[in-house]
Amino acid sequence: MAQIAAVAVDILAGEVDRTFDYRIPAEMQVFCGQAVRVPFGPGRKDGIVIRVKDHAEVEEDRLKDILSAGKSVLSDEQIDLALDMREKYHATLAACLRLMVPPQVRAGQQLRGVKMVELTGQPVTLRRGALAMQGVLDALAAGPMALTELTRQVSGGAAGAVRALAQKGAVRVWEEGIDHTPYKQLENQGGQVRHTVQQQRAIEAIERAQAGGGGAFLLRGATGSGKTEVYLTAMERALARGKGGIILVPEIALTPQMVSRFRARFGDALAVLHSRLSQAERLQQWQRIKSRQARVVIGARSAIFAPVDDIGLIVVDEEHEHSYVSERTPCYDAVEIALWRARRAGAAAVLGSATPSLERYARAIRGELTLLSMPERIGTGGMPQVSIVDLRQELAQGNRSIFSRELIGRMQRCLERGEQMMLFVNRRGHSTFVSCRACGQAIECPNCDVAETYHLGEQKLKCHYCGHIADLPQVCPACGSRSIRHFGAGTERVEQEVAKLFPGTGVLRMDRDTTVGRDAYLDILERFRRREAQVLIGTQMIAKGLDFPMVTLVGVVAADVTLHLPDFRAQEKTFQLIMQVAGRAGRAERPGHVIVQTYSPEEPAIVCAAAHDYLGFFEGEIKRRADSQYPPFGRYVRIVFSGEDEAKVRQAAGQAYEAWRQTSAGQQQWQQALLFDGCMEAPIRRLKQKFRYQVLARMVECPAADQMEGELYRLALACKIRGVLANLEVNPQNMM
Ligand code: ADP
Ligand code: ZN
Ligand code: ZN
Repeated sequence: MAQIAAVAVDILAGEVDRTFDYRIPAEMQVFCGQAVRVPFGPGRKDGIVIRVKDHAEVEEDRLKDILSAGKSVLSDEQIDLALDMREKYHATLAACLRLMVPPQVRAGQQLRGVKMVELTGQPVTLRRGALAMQGVLDALAAGPMALTELTRQVSGGAAGAVRALAQKGAVRVWEEGIDHTPYKQLENQGGQVRHTVQQQRAIEAIERAQAGGGGAFLLRGATGSGKTEVYLTAMERALARGKGGIILVPEIALTPQMVSRFRARFGDALAVLHSRLSQAERLQQWQRIKSRQARVVIGARSAIFAPVDDIGLIVVDEEHEHSYVSERTPCYDAVEIALWRARRAGAAAVLGSATPSLERYARAIRGELTLLSMPERIGTGGMPQVSIVDLRQELAQGNRSIFSRELIGRMQRCLERGEQMMLFVNRRGHSTFVSCRACGQAIECPNCDVAETYHLGEQKLKCHYCGHIADLPQVCPACGSRSIRHFGAGTERVEQEVAKLFPGTGVLRMDRDTTVGRDAYLDILERFRRREAQVLIGTQMIAKGLDFPMVTLVGVVAADVTLHLPDFRAQEKTFQLIMQVAGRAGRAERPGHVIVQTYSPEEPAIVCAAAHDYLGFFEGEIKRRADSQYPPFGRYVRIVFSGEDEAKVRQAAGQAYEAWRQTSAGQQQWQQALLFDGCMEAPIRRLKQKFRYQVLARMVECPAADQMEGELYRLALACKIRGVLANLEVNPQNMM
């Protein structure tokens, strides 16, 4: 009897979430995880074999044969992971598999060498109608590209067009070798050090877990306490046992120092994965890992799917960062995937942070993760001193500048001593919150415990949780002052102020506008390291793991911006941000000082961050979450409908909500657990030319919540209006 292969066909349409059975021709060897080409409908498709079995789901005579079989592209572990993710994140199997296999590999291409194409710069005249050639030239204007990628982007015979253009001398084609390693330009840093007692304890605990069947750790270590050193040593030990490993960082471009420290230890055994790799570079890295040339992988979110086999250790640095959660379907959380893979491999997982996410710290307290703690900074400097400056008093005393007098004084002294400073500004979002400059009160929603948001378009205040709408008040509801204003000073404004106050001072600015080019981050950081400038101004980009010994002053220009975001995590995010930013000061012998400017100096997030008091913050915040039934005690489920035709989007959301009301009304347990449900415009109503509406449900965390989530997902899938996309999110990191 013929063998049957269950094949996941590479199509993304939501409704076709199933595998298809094919007969394995007698002369063909086919196994799980292998890339295959199969007949599908009128054409052919790529697919991956998920299972090999004796019996087909359909009658034998309707079965078609597999056309050809390629390399093995997935391990059994990865297949299981994809199957689990399908359940947990309500995604199709094909969408999950796509995360694990680069497109060129799915297409069953040869694994070695990648044909690259680039413009030579030699001018060429094309005859009219040479569309493919014109398409190739246009596509290459942005830079070199793999031929496979060109074929995808340019219709009508890109390969032929490239050959013709090469003959005319307009393009150059070459084969890229396999060992191209991004970030080579970084010099290697660091050597072996003598571990402190707290480092030793952490390393030993991790090593015991590696040797003894696995374990999951939450490593809470102050900024500069030597966490990276722990990761490095634990990884070395894993390698010494013949194991491989993965290190996740929030965004690789922002953590060049981390990469170079790993490069220094692991050399060619290290593969680097990041979002700015070209398709060809990504493929090469994938091949190096798959062939075990590289055993240690460092990368951002999607690197968690790297095909490392025989894993001994997975590290997630800055585990609280929300960039680990994907906002595109499947909306997976890379930290959870890390825990899954480590558990499956009997490996150690280490989640490190100075400010662990509240939800995960709560799990550690429950005993699901083992807590490791490294409270002390390396060296003699200790934690920097943090002062809170009350901007209301500055205003009362006539200072209308964005800098307080204390900050200006400290800046002056820092510059005079020839030291460096970082000024942190966080301006984000299309809309900003509104607060009173006299009393610090932010205008809050009467139904919810969050600040309302000012929408410029309609000039209204809106609550992003329940849809409450209000006019902008003329006077502050709390104190009656007329000094009500929208909040937010951007990075450019801060740059201007510095130039005005301290003319001639070297200033670098790092935000989305100044970091467009591929290596722009690195350039700016390198220039700051070389002390070309004394002042670095930036958004949260500068908050992460940077280590500049000459930085002795950090100024948080406006701590309130994140504090009043319409988000149940606003307090937590503010606390984390201030702790992180403060961690940049005084990392060497010279003592550091941090100034936090705020209109809300009594907010626990700010008070606790200034005192470096994680546990104090945790205790207050977890209580507030419990009282308001926010996660981890409650759950938000939302379906965002989006599309270009507003009426259709509204109609889709309305239909789903109506169906939801009908189903849920009869379910008594659901009604008991349900805190709120509604259908409304999304907080950002139009994004990238698409209108957005949402069905939102808030519920108490309980078994009924799983059922309700499943029902909402079913409704999202049932949305069949053309041109409308429905996306389900659970406890979204971004409520906009
Ligand atoms: P974290 O990752 O917790 O911020 P790092 O590992 O970057 O901390 O350590 C902070 C600084 O201390 C780095 O410059 C690092 O090289 C140095 N360092 C780490 N461990 C030791 C040690 N045991 N002895 C001396 N210096 C150390
Ligand atoms: Zn007021
Ligand atoms: Zn509300």
